[in-house]
Amino acid sequence: MVSRVIPVDPFDLVIFGATGDLARRKILPGLFRRFCSGQMPEGARIVGAARSDMDDAGFRAMVAESIAEFGGGRSCEAGTLDAFLERLGYEAVDAKGEGGWEALKARLRPDTVRAFYFSVAPSLFGALAERLKGFGLADDESRVVVEKPFGHDLESAKALNDTLRRHFDETQIYRIDHYLGKETVQNLMAVRFGNMLFEPLWNAQYVDHIQITVAETVDVGGRGGYYDTSGAMRDMVQNHLMQLLCLIAMEPPARFEPDAVRDEKLKVIRALDPVEYHHIVRGQYAADDSQPGYRAHVENPRSTTESFIALKCHISNWRWAGTPFYLRTGKKLKTRASEIAVVFKDAPHSIFGADAGRHRNVLSIRLQPNEGMTLDVTIKEPGPGGMRLVDVPLDMSFAEALGPEAEEVPDAYERLIMDVIRGNQTLFMRGDEVEAAWAWTDPIIAGWQSRGEVPKPYEPRSVGPEEAQILMHKDGRRWRELKS
Ligand code: NAP
Repeated sequence: MVSRVIPVDPFDLVIFGATGDLARRKILPGLFRRFCSGQMPEGARIVGAARSDMDDAGFRAMVAESIAEFGGGRSCEAGTLDAFLERLGYEAVDAKGEGGWEALKARLRPDTVRAFYFSVAPSLFGALAERLKGFGLADDESRVVVEKPFGHDLESAKALNDTLRRHFDETQIYRIDHYLGKETVQNLMAVRFGNMLFEPLWNAQYVDHIQITVAETVDVGGRGGYYDTSGAMRDMVQNHLMQLLCLIAMEPPARFEPDAVRDEKLKVIRALDPVEYHHIVRGQYAADDSQPGYRAHVENPRSTTESFIALKCHISNWRWAGTPFYLRTGKKLKTRASEIAVVFKDAPHSIFGADAGRHRNVLSIRLQPNEGMTLDVTIKEPGPGGMRLVDVPLDMSFAEALGPEAEEVPDAYERLIMDVIRGNQTLFMRGDEVEAAWAWTDPIIAGWQSRGEVPKPYEPRSVGPEEAQILMHKDGRRWRELKS
């Protein structure tokens, strides 16, 4: 396989919140990896910005530390780090103040793509947007990148959209959902729309159900303050799982272009039925002998925020009527694994008789760990003893299939930042998509609140509350085993 480098124009990227956790863990090391793989143009400059008082040298030292801690993965030629650090500068600005903005402006070059990454709390988006325009840093060609959470509910998401659109056109706003930057997620589109094999079967007539799982082993850790105001529904389902659902369920777009893809995703969200309350299980991890439970990780000792959710939903359109979609996500589970599984129906008639058992094709798309895909097919069990059937996986691990080049697959943040520079919004959420997702989520949350619902406790390092298993069993189905 020959890797192809798509040229990127020279750019000035300003990262607001450059001293923060996300910038240090993901954004800056990701940019370095891009630099290492030769995919950053000669004219690329990165300017960090935050309130902390620091000069260029101090910022470079901080970034070097971050790269040492979080950068790993790929080998870089000697001297590359220094060459990368030379591209970096820093300017102290307060999003809500007036100082530093002229100096920041002076660092930006004319006739160069400008991107402003808002890696700060959403409450600062408005102040930043206003100053970028007011001080003349941003023009009609500039791009702004905003992080999740994009709102807390429909009303706040609309307010955020209004704030950003007062200063920027929708074509300039890049709402990041890093799940969309994952290689496998894009591969899902390649598999669906690049092959003749799957798409004819990709509907309610042939698909029994679909499972989407994002399981984490970590607890809420240091994010307890934020997480307790959010919970799994807002933190994971409304954005990441919803985006995966859209890509699985959408109609083929006419072209692989931003609005063609996003129009189809939006139609899926709008076709989602309201979820019946008995089709949702909320859970909260309990304490065990060795470790504290959820409530010890947050300030409120009586918190009723969920750290786990499992739900069944339906899409009311011709393609999917009658096919359930099961979604589950949670923290402190036994395995870290994310997977989309398309479970096909049984063959209409078994010529092998009842003894042959029940066999189903399952296409599973693994997001982590070991990104890849598996197709379970039924074959004859080898050897004597008559026609016994067995399911075997046709396994395509990217690491195995692509060899050393899989190592070079960029991580989600790297890819998405370069898409911003290229001006490609395909893998970013449009404002109306985000609002539609909240419009579906809000009544579910309001229902819990009005019923005073308390999440079910579940054992740490388990598969979540028993009720989540029952949700499936009642339908004669079961969750796929979580494999690490
Ligand atoms: P963080 O560690 O608290 O960092 C916040 C950054 O904002 C710091 O660099 C801080 O630097 C800067 N800042 C705060 N007030 C400012 C002001 N008035 N003017 C200019 N800069 C200011 O937060 P984070 O975890 O990096 O998260 C940043 C954003 O990404 C948030 O919206 C978060 O929800 C989102 N996000 C984070 C993660 C993650 O893994 N961390 C994942 C997904 C999304 P100074 O104090 O020096 O000003």
